[in-house]
Amino acid sequence: ARPVIAIVGRPNVGKSTIFNRVIGDRLAIVEDKPGVTRDRIYGTGEWSGRAFSIIDTGGIEIDGEDEIMKSVRMQAELAIEEADVIIFMVDAKAGMTHADDEVAQMLFRSRKPVVVAVNKVDNFNRMDDVYEFYGLGFGTPVAISGSHGTGIGDLLDAAIEKL
Ligand code: GDP
Ligand code: MG
Repeated sequence: ARPVIAIVGRPNVGKSTIFNRVIGDRLAIVEDKPGVTRDRIYGTGEWSGRAFSIIDTGGIEIDGEDEIMKSVRMQAELAIEEADVIIFMVDAKAGMTHADDEVAQMLFRSRKPVVVAVNKVDNFNRMDDVYEFYGLGFGTPVAISGSHGTGIGDLLDAAIEKL
């Protein structure tokens, strides 16, 4: 079976943007039941000769701090169950948040391999925004931009290396 990569992170960090860039048109299964919190979308990708499945979590729009935290927790649990390696996505523009911290603790306890992707680094002169995420404790964060499509190869290199 193909190894599974899951993308987790709080809403709006750019998970779906990156997912779409990775899969191109290779969307496999869409599980899109309104009201189901464990919503996710599967696709397939290939990088450096390795084929993999990739999961985009958190497809549903939700409001309110509590609901968001609940959903983010569910996504992290799902990723921990299903993935061989987890891409933990954070937002360079927003900086580190409480939700990021909470996800980090869950992922850390799971002992699954994790790569931190710092998205929205649209300008590589602003690498200072990336360094604070070293503090998450998963090693060197990878700076990416979903808008510009930069850094995604480096991210997949880092993820595949941990398979
Ligand atoms: P998700 O909720 O984590 O799946 O995030 P989305 O992929 O839906 O993106 C949330 C918003 O961030 C959208 O408005 C995207 O256009 C925007 N976005 C995604 N990647 C980038 C990026 O690299 N730079 C900037 N400036 N915006 C981005
Ligand atoms: Mg999304």
